[in-house]
Amino acid sequence: MDNIEVFDSPGKGRGLRATKELLSGDVLFSEPPFAAVVFDSLADKICHSCFRRQDKLQRCGQCKFAQYCDKTCQSAGWKEHKLECGAIKAFGAIGDNFGKAPNENIRLAARIMWRLDKEGGVMSDMQMTSLDDLENHISDMPEDDLKELKVDIHNFLDYWPRNSKQHRVDDISHIFGVINCNGFTVSDQRGLNAVGVGLFPNLCLVNHDCWPNCTVILNHGNQSAVNTVYHSQMRIELRALGKIEPGEEVTVSYVDFLNVTEDRQRQLKMHYFFDCTCEHCKGHIKDDLKMGGKEVDGVPEEQVKEVTEYSLQMLQKMDKARMEGNYHEVIKICRECMEKQEPVLADTHIYQLRMWSTASEVLAYLQFIDEAADYARKMVDGYNKLYHPCNAHLGMATMRAGVTHWQAGKIEVGHGMICKAYAILQRTHGPTHPITKDLEVRHETCTHTHAFSHRNAHTQGTISKIKVTLTT
Ligand SMILES: [Zn+2]
Ligand SMILES: [Zn+2]
Ligand SMILES: [Zn+2]
Repeated sequence: MDNIEVFDSPGKGRGLRATKELLSGDVLFSEPPFAAVVFDSLADKICHSCFRRQDKLQRCGQCKFAQYCDKTCQSAGWKEHKLECGAIKAFGAIGDNFGKAPNENIRLAARIMWRLDKEGGVMSDMQMTSLDDLENHISDMPEDDLKELKVDIHNFLDYWPRNSKQHRVDDISHIFGVINCNGFTVSDQRGLNAVGVGLFPNLCLVNHDCWPNCTVILNHGNQSAVNTVYHSQMRIELRALGKIEPGEEVTVSYVDFLNVTEDRQRQLKMHYFFDCTCEHCKGHIKDDLKMGGKEVDGVPEEQVKEVTEYSLQMLQKMDKARMEGNYHEVIKICRECMEKQEPVLADTHIYQLRMWSTASEVLAYLQFIDEAADYARKMVDGYNKLYHPCNAHLGMATMRAGVTHWQAGKIEVGHGMICKAYAILQRTHGPTHPITKDLEVRHETCTHTHAFSHRNAHTQGTISKIKVTLTT
């Protein structure tokens, strides 16, 4: 931790600041979870020890809830699962809960409590704060959330074994409050799907800025047979997005910048209980681009407003069709909406960008590659005008667009995009992340193929193997 230190950030409470100059792509710190659990809905699809998605998992013979890749993962995860195993079994035997395991919040809270009990709350050298000192924001919670909290605590007390150390209800609520505002979503090994939730104490100290100087990424590490001695090598990394001066506060964004100021502020208030006063919020920077009309023709403001409202309704319709897996309907809605949007809205209007993004993704999935590539390019052009040049979402979108172009035989443009995506992801995800490594291979293949593309068009096959994943 010689890059950073804890300090009092004016108006924000505690925060972290750089102690020396940092450059784009530098890792400020990395840390394993204090505790982490798999989401309820994915409990039988994700390994409870290494958090990788596997086709075939083995169930724990005792609780019949936890699932593992194999014996190695099971024994590696036993330290965290031992007390939980008996508790899940006992919980599922209680009348009302018959056959059920407690929800993910309760399982995470219990894992945290067991670990605190065992280690006596002593911090390791690598941990910059104790869990006691983290904010719980319970006093800010709205009525409905407080009701849910009460139910969770009630179930927690049913779940918590009599022979484990007993805690005051206040201390239990504190942990639930900390999870509520600091729980970090854990993704699978490819980094594409959310699979669980964990608590990373140092990360809790990093404050928000809508235009941050750092990004956080989860890396599962390289799994080799020799290296599975530890439960999981899963760690988060805090990476610099540009040059950071000594003394400068380090920040990440808790929300996507592809929302207007008002929406970002609402989300931040609702989930994290603060009013953002960052420069981008104060100046409403880029809001005009995100909600604007087409410049060239001087479209009347009324018409922009009308199409914006229409788009919002169509987006809701589209999301519904998509959830139902009705992809042809999704395309129909997109086409209908885009026809109305294109003559009126700016090419950076976020509702139009969402349509282009979905249309390109779904069309690629349905094998309409040419059309998919066109929309992907429009999407990336818009993103480039809105996002920080080193934004992880921008990197991922550019990668997807590059691959789609490549598949459509538009080698020149595809190659350019893949180069650009590779440059971004090397900094936001780091060179060892599976996505970056994957892209490195594609990049090499495509640089090579590009040079000979007029002769060797068939080598395109190699790059097509990057899966165009539907993020439903
Ligand atoms: Zn595993
Ligand atoms: Zn078990
Ligand atoms: Zn802000």
